[in-house]
Amino acid sequence: MSQTLQARTKDLLDRLGVPAAAWTGGTLKSFTPVTGEEIAQLKPDTAATTEAAIARAKAAFEAWRVVPAPRRGELVRLLGEELRAAKEDLGALVSIEAGKIPSEGLGEVQEMIDICDFAVGLSRQLYGLTIASERPGHRMMESWHPLGVVGVISAFNFPVAVWSWNTALALVAGNAVIWKPSEKTPLTALASHAILERALKRFGDAPEGLSQVIIGGPDVGEALVSSPDVPLISATGSTRMGRIVGPKVAARFGRSILELGGNNAGIVCPSADLDMALRAIAFGAMGTAGQRCTTLRRLFVHESVYDALVPRLIKAYGSVSVGNPLESGALVGPLVDARAFDAMQKALTEAKAAGGKVHGGERVATGAETAFYARPALVEMPDQTGPVLEETFAPILYVVKYKELSDAIRLHNAVGAGLSSSIFTLDMREAETFLSAAGSDCGIANVNIGTSGAEIGGAFGGEKETGGGRESGSDAWKGYMRRQTNTINYSTQLPLAQGVVFDID
Ligand code: NAD
Repeated sequence: MSQTLQARTKDLLDRLGVPAAAWTGGTLKSFTPVTGEEIAQLKPDTAATTEAAIARAKAAFEAWRVVPAPRRGELVRLLGEELRAAKEDLGALVSIEAGKIPSEGLGEVQEMIDICDFAVGLSRQLYGLTIASERPGHRMMESWHPLGVVGVISAFNFPVAVWSWNTALALVAGNAVIWKPSEKTPLTALASHAILERALKRFGDAPEGLSQVIIGGPDVGEALVSSPDVPLISATGSTRMGRIVGPKVAARFGRSILELGGNNAGIVCPSADLDMALRAIAFGAMGTAGQRCTTLRRLFVHESVYDALVPRLIKAYGSVSVGNPLESGALVGPLVDARAFDAMQKALTEAKAAGGKVHGGERVATGAETAFYARPALVEMPDQTGPVLEETFAPILYVVKYKELSDAIRLHNAVGAGLSSSIFTLDMREAETFLSAAGSDCGIANVNIGTSGAEIGGAFGGEKETGGGRESGSDAWKGYMRRQTNTINYSTQLPLAQGVVFDID
């Protein structure tokens, strides 16, 4: 089995066009969570090589920013084509490196393709406003200009999609990109970049260094974060990481897009379609083994439907298939490593101490000692206390009973994170209250669908300790450009705004 996965990884990397020299013989070891075995040894970057990459990117930006945006879009169109051709292989590599079930590995690549399509259209729509001037013979408008080098730091759990969200927009916006992927998922990063290299080759005349990958852990990310030559850092990961990265970028007046942890909740109301809610909750809470930023972690269930829903959920938790996602067709794959499993067990112990009744959560044997599979845990809690208030990046769903919607919304909002939320109801008043200014305080609020599985067309991100950043669709592109207000005087006079007079002879 060991041999097989290593050999599969090698085959995939070969087919995806990643030279063996890039992933053998280095000191940074890469493991697959599927079996826990080592699959690659990469050579990490250093502060010096990162500096050199930034210098190359800066030079590339100066050339790229004057290429017409629709022509820049052509590069992203070609990237989308190359991704379509490589979808099966890259999806399989995502499954090996991040432990996702095959359909989720492929789904992540589909998301890359979707954002490329979106960005190609956007390359002809980088619109500014025109504004009525108070002065005769004057015109005002906004122009959007390229920003510079964009540093992308990404997390292990969406090893390729997050890069594409940032890069597709950044490239059409006229920027250069340097990507520091998670040290846990460097192979999918090298493979994505090899795919982009093919698009660049077909494109023909893009400047060298327009898009680069640097490999390593927080120290390598730090070199990017601290550089005054990187005006935008888009960082995805834990709130702990954001607390370090955010202030560092702010201290040099850089811009940041922070996409941090979530502690997402759903509310099940008396009128909810319980069959639908059950399916949405199951996917939201157990999918990707609870390792999505949008994973459903807290559920508030109205007392009138608690007994009709929760026992069914507990049954689903007991019967869902857990195992090697590449061999068994299981719906729940591995946790990323031993630390993730330990954090899950610690949270469950704390939940018990706080009066929680735990269903599931135990380790599931798959024959691979160094892989960590766990049965998802549903914990009935008397109240929202202890570990319920924090994100534990594992499949734990805390369930709390409520009487009044106002109490459920208050509890819903009473945590640090503010990423995704949902309500299950057929009552229009309840749904609209949840979406109103006095409702969910999250960046994403859904009705009758779960908290996870966002489409690329909407802006993605969250409030409070989730960091406030927005990526992907809607007008998130504005975060990757600089806004310029222009006033043009086509008259023969020079009137000053606000009636100020300053006449010289
Ligand atoms: P992590 O914070 O451990 O690491 C994320 C990335 O940040 C890695 O590339 C890491 O090397 C880098 N990093 C860490 N410390 C750094 C520092 N001081 N300076 C520069 N770079 C640094 O997160 P993870 O375990 O890979 O991912 C899971 C977390 O990410 C969860 O909290 C999850 O909710 C969050 N996440 C959020 C989103 C979102 O869009 N909001 C998406 C995916 C994951």
